[in-house]
Amino acid sequence: MIKAQIPEIKTLLSTPKNIVIVPHKNPDGDAMGSTLGLYHYLKSYNHNATVIAPNDYPDFLKWLPGNNTVLKYENDQGVSKVLIEKADLIFTLDFNAFHRAGDMAEVLETSNATKLMIDHHQQPDDYAKFKYSDVSMSSTCEMVYNFIEMLDDAEKIDAIIATCLYVGIMTDTGSFRFRSTTNRTHEVISNLIKKGADNTQIHNNIFDTNSYSRIQLLGRALQNLKIVPELRTAYITLSQDELDEFDFKKGDTEGFVNYALSLKGIIFAAIFIESQQDQIIKISLRSKGSFSVNEFSRAHFHGGGHTNAAGGRSETDMSSTIDKFISILPKYKQDLSQS
Ligand code: 5GP
Ligand code: MN
Repeated sequence: MIKAQIPEIKTLLSTPKNIVIVPHKNPDGDAMGSTLGLYHYLKSYNHNATVIAPNDYPDFLKWLPGNNTVLKYENDQGVSKVLIEKADLIFTLDFNAFHRAGDMAEVLETSNATKLMIDHHQQPDDYAKFKYSDVSMSSTCEMVYNFIEMLDDAEKIDAIIATCLYVGIMTDTGSFRFRSTTNRTHEVISNLIKKGADNTQIHNNIFDTNSYSRIQLLGRALQNLKIVPELRTAYITLSQDELDEFDFKKGDTEGFVNYALSLKGIIFAAIFIESQQDQIIKISLRSKGSFSVNEFSRAHFHGGGHTNAAGGRSETDMSSTIDKFISILPKYKQDLSQS
C-alpha cells in the first residue's frame, strides 16, 4: 500500500458510505485525534460516519471537536453492533491487531466490511484490504494528514480537522521531542497551524487541566520510584490502594513513566499500575536509543508497541511482577549498557 490503492479508495469514497472508525482500547490522544480528524473529513463528504471507541478515554480528551458523537462500545453495544454490521467500510486507526480493540475484537473480525488500517505500530496483522502501515511515522494523526493529502484533499482540512490531528502529533511525540519527530512532522504541524489549529490552546487543554489529586498521585509515584543504576533502569509502582487514596481517574497516570526516564543515565523506564477491576498489573515501558521495549514487552509481558514506547500486562500480583521484571533485566545487560 497505499499509494497504488489510492484510486480505488477514491472510487469507494466517491459516494456516501456507512463508515465506522475505531481507535484502540484505552484510546490516547493520537487514537482520538486521528479517529475524530478522519471523522470530520469523511462527514464533509456526507458519509454516514461514526467513531466507536472500545471503551472510555481520559477527560483531557473530551473537549475534542466531535467528542459528543463518539460511541463507546462498552456502554453502547447494541447500537454499535448494528452500525458495524451495516458498515461498508471500517477504518482501524492507531492499532494493527484486532485484540487491541478489546471486547470489540470479535465483531470487527466477523464483519464483512472492507477494512482500512492506518497505523504506525510494529508487526501489523493482515486483516485490512487497504493497509497504510508505517512504523517510522510519529503518529497516526500525521498519517491521516498524509492520507487526506494523498486523496488530493489537503484543502479540505479546516480548523476542526487540524485541531484533532494536532493533538495526536503533539501527544505521540512528547510535544515534538521524540526520535520519531521529523522535519516532515514539523511541516505537517506548520500546515495544521496555518489551517487554524490553536497550538497554545490545544497544549493548555491537554496538559494544564490537572486536578489537585492527580498531582498528589504523581508525588506518590515519584516517592515509589526505584532505580537499578547498573542496568540504567528505573521503575515506578502504584497499587490500587494508592490509586484509590488519590481518587484516581482514567488518564491520571499518563506521562508518569517519563519522569523515570528523565533521570540522568537512565535509558529504560517502567511503570506498574495495579488494576483490581481487570485483575492485572498494567505496564508502560519507555526507552531511549536502540533498546526495544516493544520486543521486551512481547517477550515477557503480553504486549508490544514501538521501539521506545510499549505497553503490556502481568496477571500476577505486584510483588511477583516486580520480582519477574528484576530477574529478567540482567539478560539485557549488554543491550542496556550499549544503548
Ligand atoms: P502506553 O504505555 O502509553 O499504554 O502505550 C505505549 C504504546 O504501546 C502505545 O503506542 C500503545 O498503543 C502501545 N501499547 C500499549 N499496550 C499495548 C499492548 O498490550 N499491546 C500492544 N501491541 N501495544 C500496546
Ligand atoms: Mn499512536
